[in-house]
Amino acid sequence: MWLVEELENSIDIVELVSRYTKLKKAGANYKAHCPFPGHTEKTPSFVVSPAKQLAYCFGCHKWGWALKFVMDIENMEFKDAIQVLASITWKKLEWFDNENYKIKKNIYSLYKDATNYYKKALGNNPEAQKYLYDRWLKKETIIKFEFGFSDSGIALYNYLKEKWYEDNLIKESSIFVNVPQRKDKFIWRIIFPIKNLRWDIVAFTARILNSWEPKYLNSPSSKYYDKSEILYGLYEAKKAIVDKDFVIIVEWQMDVIAMQEAWFINTVAVSWTALTDKHLQNLKRLTHKIYICFDWDKAGQKATKLAIENTKNKWFEINIITLPKWKDPDEILKSWKDFNEYIKSALSPIAYYINNSKFEITSIEDKKKLLLELLEIVKNYTDPIERDFYLKEIAEKLDLKENLVWDSFNKIFRKKIKFGYEEEKINKKEFSFEEIAIWYILLDEKNKEFFKKNLIFQKTLIKDLKDLLNWELNIINLPLDKRDEYKAIALQIQIEQETDNETNKQEDLLRITKQTNLENYRKITKELKQKMKDWDDEAFIKYNEIIKKAKEYNLK
Ligand SMILES: [Zn+2]
Repeated sequence: MWLVEELENSIDIVELVSRYTKLKKAGANYKAHCPFPGHTEKTPSFVVSPAKQLAYCFGCHKWGWALKFVMDIENMEFKDAIQVLASITWKKLEWFDNENYKIKKNIYSLYKDATNYYKKALGNNPEAQKYLYDRWLKKETIIKFEFGFSDSGIALYNYLKEKWYEDNLIKESSIFVNVPQRKDKFIWRIIFPIKNLRWDIVAFTARILNSWEPKYLNSPSSKYYDKSEILYGLYEAKKAIVDKDFVIIVEWQMDVIAMQEAWFINTVAVSWTALTDKHLQNLKRLTHKIYICFDWDKAGQKATKLAIENTKNKWFEINIITLPKWKDPDEILKSWKDFNEYIKSALSPIAYYINNSKFEITSIEDKKKLLLELLEIVKNYTDPIERDFYLKEIAEKLDLKENLVWDSFNKIFRKKIKFGYEEEKINKKEFSFEEIAIWYILLDEKNKEFFKKNLIFQKTLIKDLKDLLNWELNIINLPLDKRDEYKAIALQIQIEQETDNETNKQEDLLRITKQTNLENYRKITKELKQKMKDWDDEAFIKYNEIIKKAKEYNLK
């Protein structure tokens, strides 16, 4: 296990976690909204302890040191997570060779090498360069996004062969229509490499030259490239999204490039998909505020509505930027208009619906119908604060009295919906008293003697605790996840008792002992009673013994 330890020792957990979520200093620790998949929350319950080099969520009870954290958050296998840590620390892992990993690494390096070829080809092709400069793209942008150009399938093929890539891997990359004929499917196109969150190139988008029509070709979906997961520009935008605490989502890659070039670096694109749950999963680690800026056409508006629908009740605040008709972000930026103005006047979902409705607010009949439609939308928001916010907004926008809107809302929907606060759906795992006892023993050897003396039903204790009381178990011998688990409990105890004193700790020890005894007493007597029903003589004797013991120790 020396490799894991070496890697973890050279990584600062605070630095690692801050790649995924915005951390705020809270005493000796840092706090944040939980970045783990599957847990969305309003108040931060995720804690990172620099002293213990441990991350822990009090909401969903996920925890881990650096390696486990990466495995959980990236949903990765041990080997891949090791690789991520290694790339962060720049440690070479030459001996870490695994057939599966080899293939993976090689497909990534193949895309990387192909990108290098395309970049060089762009440098050698004035026509392709002119195309980019005509679109006002700066040289830094071309370098930053690693644009390239496909000039010759044969030359690209030979370049890859020089790098010792096998034909079947070249085929797997889907760059060539036909590998034996060396036909590059992106021929005579500008190449936009698509990266995943780890900076690996996983696919290409290619735009045809000599045409102002948006004619694009894409790499097909693969196990490396999942369109419903990847947001174009996210790697470049990550830091800016966290810093500004909002993200602008546009529809096309060219819009991302234009926006980031104009210093709206916190911009990403969904390309050829709606805003999916997987996208949101990646975003919520960075921010909870979204500005949608999709096209004015039917498809764009449909995508906007879908995005509103999809972010509902997921603790996202969504705003809709509306640009003048038939303009895209690229054109707005080029017209020297201040894009910040559009951000400032972005619409809430309710305002967006009102703006796009066919009803005239000046007509009483229309106003009634519109109100009904809007109340129907608000009904689907489960958070009472959000609901209150939107009902107030409806009153304001439709120029109605607030209590009138509330009355209509209650009258129509009260019976139909379950009122009240919907609890966050989280996996509420509680630690058992026995688990907590383990950590107290590991914290201080003296506690072992205390538990040894006071835990009266030792036979029924969980194995780790039993072993520990007999000194057969040592923390070093624990498996990785167990070790993390007990460390997490320690962190919880430490945080809970930050202001506590010795007396409280003694009381805590007594409480743990009493609860453990009580739980085990109930467990044993229940089992014995069952046996007594079958007239098991031994069970009767044992039952009496236990009752006596319980009385002695004042157990109820
Ligand atoms: Zn959590």
